[in-house]
Amino acid sequence: MSSATDSASDAQPTVGVLPGDDAAPEAVHASLAVLQAMELPIAFEVLPDGAEMAREMSREEGEQLVIDTAERCNTVLFGSTNGQTPGVGYFRWGRQTYANVRPIKWRPGFRSPMVRPEGIDYVIVRENLEDLYAGIEGDLSEVAASGLADRPRFGGVSRTQIPGGFGHFAEADGRYAIKYFTRANVERVAHFACRLTQQRKAEGSEGKLTCSAKYNVLSRTDGWFVEIAAEVASGYPDITFESFIADDFARRIVASPHDLDVVLLPNLYGDIFSDEGAGTIGGLGLAPSGCFGEDWAYFESVHGTAPDIAGMHRINPTATMLSAVMMLHHLGQHERASALEAAIDAVYEAGERLTPDQGGSASTEEFAQAVIDAL
Ligand code: ATP
Repeated sequence: MSSATDSASDAQPTVGVLPGDDAAPEAVHASLAVLQAMELPIAFEVLPDGAEMAREMSREEGEQLVIDTAERCNTVLFGSTNGQTPGVGYFRWGRQTYANVRPIKWRPGFRSPMVRPEGIDYVIVRENLEDLYAGIEGDLSEVAASGLADRPRFGGVSRTQIPGGFGHFAEADGRYAIKYFTRANVERVAHFACRLTQQRKAEGSEGKLTCSAKYNVLSRTDGWFVEIAAEVASGYPDITFESFIADDFARRIVASPHDLDVVLLPNLYGDIFSDEGAGTIGGLGLAPSGCFGEDWAYFESVHGTAPDIAGMHRINPTATMLSAVMMLHHLGQHERASALEAAIDAVYEAGERLTPDQGGSASTEEFAQAVIDAL
């Protein structure tokens, strides 16, 4: 907590607000209403949503607007995109926000399906740039032509034991996708996770970093990721390190979530397991996130654009509001972050003005008004 920083408003930060697509703008505008009601020492630059951008400007202009916003603003609060809002890839790859921090924390009033949700409180650090997300895909015949499939063994058996050998790589109607990691990037995200584990330990957590991947099958990629993470963690003697195979870890998220403190995951598993973790605390409407690089960060909910409820004013804005709490901490406005968090907690504890996903009948905007009233 730094009240000195909280009151130092001489250099007022600028926050870009990018509403996104489908139902996401409803959650973002409701969250923005709360932030504006707080009269924060922040200048907001609110961009149009994806549909409006498509109507009013070319895709190239929209992309440039989003990129300029990332360059100009101290940070961005983002909804989510179905592809209509252009340029958001720049937030990740352009600004190299390599660590996606996704807290999974149950709070009283969250409608969890677990028998004992009390005390579920851990943070997933998802590697945010590599793995299968490079989008390098193609026809299987390219793999055959490259010679990459010319190996004596396949799936753990000798080539001679497979009917047709590897002929199917050249002849079948098939596709491939590339999964890759680089040492420098895995090291920096592992250091990030270790520092976060230290911070949480200083605040009373166990001080344990858990890493997971499918290292029993993909030893040269997933195995290497876990090896590098273990190597990096060994440089932090005050924290402990453990690893689990991804399928076993998926079970642990449900069976023993209380054992988790900080979790480091490759990109794809991080994406999937954070939705699973969100499910244990009460759903996607409750899970915030922040994406951190060396010199810039942006904030968005874990959930997507929720297209099935677009225009219905029933999207739960809690995930976006809790992302805004993370954003306020990032901007050094710790007391205001805590005030917003406490107001959200109070609305859940009262349980009277919750959105339908939490068993209530409040609209997105009514929930936001309840948070404003609690403030
Ligand atoms: P993406 O792949 O873009 O992350 P996703 O697969 O996680 O998307 P979502 O758009 O998050 O999919 O939606 C999954 C389901 O959860 C949908 O039925 C959606 O309505 C619901 N959902 C997501 N976010 C919320 C929310 N904030 N409030 C209520 N329901 C939500």
